[in-house]
Amino acid sequence: MIQPMVAGGRQRLVSADADPFAEPVATLSARNLDELRAEIGDCRRCRLCAGRSHIVFGVGNPRARLMFVGEGPGRDEDLQGEPFVGRAGQLLTDIITKGMGLKREDVYIANVVKCRPPENRNPEPDEVAACEPFLKKQIDLVRPEVIVGLGKFAVQTLLQSKTPISKLRGNWHRYHGIKLMPTFHPAYLLRNPADKKLVWEDIKKVIKELSGENT
Ligand code: SF4
Repeated sequence: MIQPMVAGGRQRLVSADADPFAEPVATLSARNLDELRAEIGDCRRCRLCAGRSHIVFGVGNPRARLMFVGEGPGRDEDLQGEPFVGRAGQLLTDIITKGMGLKREDVYIANVVKCRPPENRNPEPDEVAACEPFLKKQIDLVRPEVIVGLGKFAVQTLLQSKTPISKLRGNWHRYHGIKLMPTFHPAYLLRNPADKKLVWEDIKKVIKELSGENT
């Protein structure tokens, strides 16, 4: 059984002495997620600001043990200002609720970039460079025990790797000391439903990890 999805006496996988986020987020002084959102403000640090309706900051439990990281907002997310709310988002919600027995509010969900790229293209390297400090700071503030990276773009960005997602998924990796499980993006699963079973295999490993069965 997965332990409660909030901190509170739980053993963290990141050493309290280590501060792996110090350099990339040095310019961000926020002490909590609300302050970070305020610090982002009406951000114009990259060209993605031009076409957005909303900055899609992130949602969920600020002390979540589990964090999902996707690529960037799509149309529905841009309109509603919340990550993973379209058809792919419903599939992620099903994974969280039906697959893991959790509520969406138990976990934290964010993206690599906070504004929708035009025509849902991949974010450009300079856009990622401009926005990634916000994600790093979010992860630093939430300090989850496990991150699930959703899809090729998010995983390759987090791991600074060009390895195909098909090779990365299903195996544990580390992101600044935090355990990272790459898996396919829910939007990919809508197009390739046969691969849902592979995602379920990955999610079962995450459940096992959070249940303490790997210790
Ligand atoms: S994508 Fe990130 S860096 Fe670019 S404008 Fe939006 S919030 Fe700012």
